[in-house]
Amino acid sequence: MALITKAARGTQDVLPSQSHNNRFLESTLLEIADEFGFKEIRTPVFEHTELFTRSVGDTTDVVQKEMYTFTDKGGRSITLRPEGTAGAARAFLEHGLYNEPLPQKVCYLTSCYRYEKPQAGRLREFHQFGVECFGTASPAADAEVISLANEIFGFLGVEDIHLEINSIGCPECRKKYHSALKAYFESKKDRLCSTCLERLEKNPMRILDCKNPSCKEVASEAPVVIDYLCDDCREHFESVQAYLDEMMIPYSINPQIVRGLDYYTRTVFEFVSDSIGAQGTVCGGGRYDGLIEELGGSHVPSLGFGMGIERLMLLLESQGIKLPEAKRPELYIAPIGEKASLTAARLSQALRQSGVAVQFDIVGRSVKAQMKYANKLGARFTVVLGDDDIAKGKIKVKNMDTGEVTEMDLEEFDEEFLEMSLQQSAQDLQDAVSNGDNIDLSAFLGGLM
Ligand code: ATP
Ligand code: MG
Repeated sequence: MALITKAARGTQDVLPSQSHNNRFLESTLLEIADEFGFKEIRTPVFEHTELFTRSVGDTTDVVQKEMYTFTDKGGRSITLRPEGTAGAARAFLEHGLYNEPLPQKVCYLTSCYRYEKPQAGRLREFHQFGVECFGTASPAADAEVISLANEIFGFLGVEDIHLEINSIGCPECRKKYHSALKAYFESKKDRLCSTCLERLEKNPMRILDCKNPSCKEVASEAPVVIDYLCDDCREHFESVQAYLDEMMIPYSINPQIVRGLDYYTRTVFEFVSDSIGAQGTVCGGGRYDGLIEELGGSHVPSLGFGMGIERLMLLLESQGIKLPEAKRPELYIAPIGEKASLTAARLSQALRQSGVAVQFDIVGRSVKAQMKYANKLGARFTVVLGDDDIAKGKIKVKNMDTGEVTEMDLEEFDEEFLEMSLQQSAQDLQDAVSNGDNIDLSAFLGGLM
């Protein structure tokens, strides 16, 4: 086969054999966030470019090198979102959500676009689960947002992950820090890349986040911002730690964390794993007390995090964490011949209306081929339906797990089958409970409704 093209570099397809994992993960994330009071917000995949240059910051890697920006047919500069916070913050302002009771807690699952060098855990189209909490300066909010990410990893059973926190202060304490940083990097100018030389003038802190090996080495010995915090910022940071201690959330302080986006202030944090190679940061976030003002609003201190879905998936795989299996068809009906096929269609229709996951032959294959197919699908029960059975008004249902065969009345089939299938599911539930298996009850019951 000569394909005319393949998927664009740095993009991934999620195939039907995998998508139930994504679906499970996504609904789990949204459900946990919902328990914490974060409601879903959906914003467009593209925005006016200035939203990102202003919020993410024009000296960041994201804005300087990674954005998918184009001019649309109306001559506007448009950018595919590289992250989720800016769009959520714009929507918060545009729809006057600051007039609603604060804090406004939102969450989202979005695709993001960054023109990066693709490698394991680094894509050009990736997905983020993010939360934002608008309108609170309290360190309790920092702890709550961190505890939500922590709860997600805990719920999924992830072990090899640790939380690192830092404070990068406010614009006030950063003034002193910037001059110290500038003086330090001035003395090492010859070892900085050309982008960092420009950053040295405009925003020396950005050098700390440069991925260039030589810059990284120089940065590793640079003064750290935590030594320059003003009293308020220090107090805030100490209080965040007191909350985390109280909530028994383990963490370490990493004075090197600065995060790659300009809008951060005070608390920044990362959940890092050693199991998934160089791109070990699965979740990153922090406070952005000045962002809403930067976008034209009033002072609304806020914070949030972004969690990379692909990295989370890699982490689950690397730790051998099994997600629930895809739903199997409850019943496969294998008709022999055209008349039986019509009956199979009618029975399927009735059962589907009762919420049973039924499949029947829509190819016109031999019974042998159909049974092979039903096996591959993992159907729980099968029925072979011949003209004889239809004439007699009796059909035989086979339990594929036990081999047991039950005869049912054709005219009463939907009710009789439904009853048997409910009984079987109740039995499965009981077995699972006595085995001490971890059961997702809502998914289980959903399968029965
Ligand atoms: P990194 O330092 O790895 O480039 P970042 O600081 O650019 O990450 P953020 O902008 O804070 O990352 O995004 C939050 C999360 O989104 C990251 O922790 C990561 O899990 C995920 N992420 C970011 N960029 C990518 C990418 N190119 N491919 C896959 N996931 C990504
Ligand atoms: Mg990055």
